[in-house]
Amino acid sequence: MMNREEYQRCSKCVMDTSDTKISFDENGVCDHCRNFEKKIKPFWKPQENRFEELEQISKVIRKAGKGKEYDCILGLSGGVDSSYLAYIAKEVMHLRPLIYVVDTGWNLNVAVENIEKIVKGLKLDMYTDVVNWKEMADLQLSYFKAQVPFQDAPQDHAIFASLYNYAVKHHIKYVLTGSNRSTEFVRPPLEYMPLNDLRLLKDIHKKYGTKELRTFPLCGIFKYRLLYRYLYGMKRVFPLDYVIYDKENAEKLLHDRFGWTRYENKHYENVFTRFYEGYYLVNKFGYDTRKNVLSSQILAGMISRDEALSILSNNTYEPEQIEQDKEYIAKKLGINKEEFENIISGENKTWMDYKNVMKLILFGAKVCRFFGIESRNLR
Ligand SMILES: [Zn+2]
Repeated sequence: MMNREEYQRCSKCVMDTSDTKISFDENGVCDHCRNFEKKIKPFWKPQENRFEELEQISKVIRKAGKGKEYDCILGLSGGVDSSYLAYIAKEVMHLRPLIYVVDTGWNLNVAVENIEKIVKGLKLDMYTDVVNWKEMADLQLSYFKAQVPFQDAPQDHAIFASLYNYAVKHHIKYVLTGSNRSTEFVRPPLEYMPLNDLRLLKDIHKKYGTKELRTFPLCGIFKYRLLYRYLYGMKRVFPLDYVIYDKENAEKLLHDRFGWTRYENKHYENVFTRFYEGYYLVNKFGYDTRKNVLSSQILAGMISRDEALSILSNNTYEPEQIEQDKEYIAKKLGINKEEFENIISGENKTWMDYKNVMKLILFGAKVCRFFGIESRNLR
């Protein structure tokens, strides 16, 4: 953690000096906002459906899938992005996606129910990969012992790797993703992001793990970026960038058509994420992920800065709930609450304390920025 002399918050969004690499201009505007104005806004067309372009893409995907059981694969979490994506894939793009679900052991009932409703309502096929729980728990406990911020990395990695490994194995070339430009302008500070660094994962597990990762889905960024993309010709498609994507409207449509239910807080996908984002990251590292989410919404013109500030001042995570979640998570990971508290009270570490390939990943990201593939701030 870097120490900064003074606290400062951007005059346009709600990012502040808890993002240790933030910089401000003479008007107090942060570099995320300046980056948005310069590199994203000129190309951003949220009020425009680009159905023709989307149809061109759909045609290619349908053609590639001819004679096959599925023409693409789509990871469904039950959240609004991926649920709406499934709807677009089937009803707008007329594709035959295989719905892919990864059960990391933490899914909320509401998410599982949403998945079932979407799959049934759209008459799609679904495949569920259940990650070996003992390995999952061992890896997650290793991450806590490693004192790093990005505790969502083991789950993120499992979900990502499982889907990509499956797709390559079953010769499904197109991966539809619910990531979209209209809601993700501001990234969290780099030190809090798990950038899919397999070397880091393995080093942390080697130091703190007790069980071998035999079946845990693994896929390094090089396997994915080079081997899968160039050798197997795998392609990612971002359909939500081609349609007007207003989350509220999307939620309403999903609710009306499929009985889909909104999560109480859309960024708390499960108990683990709730605890990680709502407590661990805030209390241990002083970072609140709502800041980058809300800042993106401000830049998109969805809410005002004042509304965002009022949301931030409101901690909806009740202390009682925190204690309950802590106990629940500890128990699930095979330890008691006191042991868990002891572990997470250790000295904070970053990815720099472990073997990693972050420099290479960042270099790759810079190359992507240069070619216009990635336009968000990455420092
Ligand atoms: Zn800003």
